[in-house]
Amino acid sequence: MTALDFAAETMRRRTFAIISHPDAGKTTITEKLLLFGGAIQMAGTVKGRKSTRHATSDWMAMEKERGISVSSSVMQFPYKDHIVNLLDTPGHEDFSEDTYRVLTAVDSALMVIDVAKGVEARTIKLMDVCRLRDTPIISFINKMDREGKEPLELLDEIESVLKIRCAPITWPIGMGKRFKGVYHLYEDRVILYGPSLPTRAQSKTEIKGLNNPELDELLGDQADELRMEIELVQGAADTYDHDAYLRGELSPVYFGSAMNNFGVQELLDGFVEAAPGPQPRPSTAREVLPTEDKFSGFVFKIQANMDPQHRDRIAFFRICSGKFSRGMKVKHVRLNRDIKIPDALTFMSSDRERLEEAFPGDIIGIHNHGTIRIGDTFTEGERLAFTGIPNFAPELFRRARLRDPLKSKQLLKGLSQLCEEGATQLYKPMINNDLILGAVGVLQFEVVSERLKTEYSVDCQFEQVNVTTARWIECDDPKRLEEFKDKNEANLALDHAGDLVYIAPTRVNLQMAQERWKDVRFLATREHG
Ligand code: GDP
Repeated sequence: MTALDFAAETMRRRTFAIISHPDAGKTTITEKLLLFGGAIQMAGTVKGRKSTRHATSDWMAMEKERGISVSSSVMQFPYKDHIVNLLDTPGHEDFSEDTYRVLTAVDSALMVIDVAKGVEARTIKLMDVCRLRDTPIISFINKMDREGKEPLELLDEIESVLKIRCAPITWPIGMGKRFKGVYHLYEDRVILYGPSLPTRAQSKTEIKGLNNPELDELLGDQADELRMEIELVQGAADTYDHDAYLRGELSPVYFGSAMNNFGVQELLDGFVEAAPGPQPRPSTAREVLPTEDKFSGFVFKIQANMDPQHRDRIAFFRICSGKFSRGMKVKHVRLNRDIKIPDALTFMSSDRERLEEAFPGDIIGIHNHGTIRIGDTFTEGERLAFTGIPNFAPELFRRARLRDPLKSKQLLKGLSQLCEEGATQLYKPMINNDLILGAVGVLQFEVVSERLKTEYSVDCQFEQVNVTTARWIECDDPKRLEEFKDKNEANLALDHAGDLVYIAPTRVNLQMAQERWKDVRFLATREHG
């Protein structure tokens, strides 16, 4: 492959995630995007595929029951001249950490908003995360087939609540029962939709030019209404500014109805055109450019037992530079060791496949046998670590209580493996044999308990424990660290990765410890460098 081919492969990647409040239509739109990408032939198979893969697992049943998507995954599909990598994010707020890390692995995001509900709580939080890295955001106003807020009002709401300027690219023709299609403001064409078909084909009519008399024939009174509205919009709304979009300051906005397949193709066309390709990434040593020929990337997510039959743990790895080829040897920077990756997975179309090569922007799945952690960097030799992929100290703590004491080995194994995923943290106190689980949301304990049962055959419950907060401990002076360990044994534990953690019964206790040991660092987030 020539350098030019490599650059072209890299620049045609589009790696993004969908952010939205639950129920706004993320799943539906994902399904339609895959449909347009030719990844699936019939609509309605995304959820179906997930549930057949996990048919035997009660845990997935629980997920379905609660209507939340917990296990985020990656989907790759070709569209026009591009290769699109769509990273799914869990919708429930108890999984916000996972979402946070997924967002570190994308180059842009698609924000889906329900036209009736407007900007909702989760959208605000996710937008805050995107703002940390100035991630470019395209917006899709969904469910236009229902009565909702006036479009201009909604744009105002996005601008004032989310603090991002909005530039409509398409404009809806009517709303609710009168929703007929969209007008493309920059291409001066009207797209009218007929009833949607479950396959890729859909009946739509395109009319060139807002003043085309055909429009009056097809829309009647609504044609003049549309013309007046467009005049108003062109005066009132921001115009699209590509650089402002790339800086994360302005969001191009599309309207439609994902369920009916209205406006989705216009969105996808606009997305692959405007969205940035793989971006440079900060590391401990320097900024790494996607076009560099040496391979590098980082792990942003680990998922245990994706395939319950094989008990596998997959590390999701974002390629930042260079080409990946199957069987290649890379440096595992944290361990300072060379490892071979013989059997990476791709996430193309309907199932996981073995992969021959992959490019910057792509996500590959690497089998984890316990040596890979979230945040780990692999390179072709250079000692650098990508930054900004943290673990967060949990705020809720429970002690694992086992029904059958003979299963304690199995329990430890299950907890250690599930904690690799990063949503929960395991603490083993220095002074006893307790297993304490920390999480950011209550739902996590239920999920872990359920997964221990179905994936590890361990019946375990979680009970209250006298821990309020936890901090990872670091100290540059080894002697001082030993002293600290001696004096604080009762409050110290090791996490599942073997790192030292201070577990505090109260915030006051933590504060006092911090004041007493000024040369010891108490960290609320952990990053590996
Ligand atoms: P998610 O929680 O964001 O993944 O949302 P889903 O895609 O599961 O959609 C939530 C609900 O809204 C489902 O019942 C969908 O059928 C429905 N829905 C999605 N898109 C549309 C749409 O364009 N119009 C209408 N009326 N309903 C929709």
